[in-house]
Amino acid sequence: MHNLKSIVQRLEARKYRITPARLAVVTAVLERSGHFSVDDIVGRVPGVGRATVFRTMKLLSEMGMLCRVLLEDGSLSYRVSRHQGHHHHLVCVSCASVQELDACIASDMLGDLARSTGFQIEGHWLEFFGRCAACRNSVA
Ligand SMILES: [Zn+2]
Ligand SMILES: [Zn+2]
Ligand SMILES: [Zn+2]
Repeated sequence: MHNLKSIVQRLEARKYRITPARLAVVTAVLERSGHFSVDDIVGRVPGVGRATVFRTMKLLSEMGMLCRVLLEDGSLSYRVSRHQGHHHHLVCVSCASVQELDACIASDMLGDLARSTGFQIEGHWLEFFGRCAACRNSVA
């Protein structure tokens, strides 16, 4: 997991200035469990503009510390990432919990798709929706 110190160190290593506003956003993000939107964070960092919150969250996403999750209703949310690289999510439609898959499970398919279409695939987004084990058990 990420903590404030390690994130600040990584931002500094990339020559980003650690402004009070950025620090407030990173702190607010780390305090959240589960997923959250840009506006959730805006509401928790009084005095920091929405654009700064958005840019900081975008930066953290690009550095692999946050990941973006597409929810079943089509809205985009963020969560603190447990995996550095590209990965996929299992999103529970009942309790809204999100599990991260360790690795990309589509890589074989991508090779086939590229060969059959001649398309150079540069990215993809794949999320899974359903009911988590805890929710399945509580129904049964
Ligand atoms: Zn993730
Ligand atoms: Zn669930
Ligand atoms: Zn993938």
